[in-house]
Amino acid sequence: SAGVPAAQILRILMAEGVMTTITAQIDPELTEFIAAELDLDVDFAQPETLEDRVLTALEDREDPAEDLVARAPVITFLGHVDHGKTSLLDKLIGIDVAGGESGGITQHIRAYQIDKDNKPIAFVDTPGHAAFTEMRARGANVTDIAVIVVAADDGVMPQTEEAISHAKAADVPIVVALNKCDLPGVDINRAMQGLAANDLLPSEWGGEVEVIKTSAMTGEGLDDLLDTLLTVAELHEYTANPNRPAIGACLESQQDSDRGVVTKVMVTNGTLRVGDIIVCGDAYGRVKAMYDPLDPKKRLTEALPSTPVNLTGLDTAPGAGERMYVLDDISQAREIAEARAHAERSDFLGATGYQQVTLENLFDRLEGAEEVQTLNLIIRADVRGSIEAIEKELEKLDHPEVRLRILQKGVGGITEGDIVLAEASDAIVIAFNVVPDDKARARASEVGVQIRRYGVIYKITDELRSAMEGMLKPEQ
Ligand code: GDP
Repeated sequence: SAGVPAAQILRILMAEGVMTTITAQIDPELTEFIAAELDLDVDFAQPETLEDRVLTALEDREDPAEDLVARAPVITFLGHVDHGKTSLLDKLIGIDVAGGESGGITQHIRAYQIDKDNKPIAFVDTPGHAAFTEMRARGANVTDIAVIVVAADDGVMPQTEEAISHAKAADVPIVVALNKCDLPGVDINRAMQGLAANDLLPSEWGGEVEVIKTSAMTGEGLDDLLDTLLTVAELHEYTANPNRPAIGACLESQQDSDRGVVTKVMVTNGTLRVGDIIVCGDAYGRVKAMYDPLDPKKRLTEALPSTPVNLTGLDTAPGAGERMYVLDDISQAREIAEARAHAERSDFLGATGYQQVTLENLFDRLEGAEEVQTLNLIIRADVRGSIEAIEKELEKLDHPEVRLRILQKGVGGITEGDIVLAEASDAIVIAFNVVPDDKARARASEVGVQIRRYGVIYKITDELRSAMEGMLKPEQ
């Protein structure tokens, strides 16, 4: 196919002592050798899969500027347990889940769209920041703005700090709801100090973070919160193109005894219609019916961008965070879904050639990069003093091409949540006198997140410096 007579190639090979036939497959190394002999350029691109070809095209499709319209911002609540995430969302949409009416539902991902003065706002509520980042790791970046909920009586707690790290790693604007302000004797100043200490300087104090005092109990501040979210949204001009086949993300999916597989999907771009052929993870099908999550009996015929829907019609339940695409050909959808069902996740990672960052491969990544690169770190240590000392040492590390960014830091062993964050953000975990728990260890080796364990501080900076300079010896 290179336009060279086969006999000529065979001659080269025979000269090299390789016996072959005209129809035999030749390995890439030999091909390269032959190409060099013949002065030809060869393209070693792997044959594209149907999935690559079809879905990448949909993903890369550019929306003409004239088709773009404003869409509702998608908001996610994050925060320490019991600080009032569920109650706030309940109050905003006018149903009572926190009160236990529909007991246990808070384990699920909730998604709704409401109107404030005729302006739509969408909410996606995940059961915790690990779930939030897990979805992001799978490619579902549905959140536009994160609301960090902090109970005014408790202030900033360790899980609040983690929530802040996860929101920052997602690179979305942050608004704070200082909740439970109805409680007598709450110390607002102390809570604000906690926020400031985590780089969220309240606008009242001259910073850039809007802190809204709320009460899910009395409803105080909720209008203010919605107005603030709409203002932030206006500033960021979130747009989408309703005139294209839909793209979305599965928020959750389960088998329902009456309706079959019911999948909660957030439409992120385009318009989704009943009858559309969809593929989502290893599931495919035709959208049979769509329901409004706020009113499960209300059927919808179409869903615009930023609209969450419960849909039926998929053959099996896709995982949370899987991207959803509309295709024109059902046999193509089936083929892609089946290929995905067969491919092991590890194979998939291997096939795409993606490798998490490690100290050993850091230098190779830096080479050839045009801009200053960021090395993301997650730091876990035995005591707070160690974290401070490590941070101080890291500040001294100055490299023209690498910027260090601490995504998360905390006292205690490495958790699965840390690994999920590291995976989603391509980070290295620095463990100082602590170890990962079993789940974290298993997850880290499954997804290839590197955990570096240290017992002395200067070793950390030494190794980081060597890694940046490409001088790090492979681990024994
Ligand atoms: P989540 O774990 O963050 O979702 O917190 P929940 O919404 O379940 O709330 C935890 C507890 O705090 C519940 O008993 C709520 O009734 C209570 N709560 C939530 N918001 C407020 C509030 O604004 N004021 C008061 N007084 N209690 C609240």
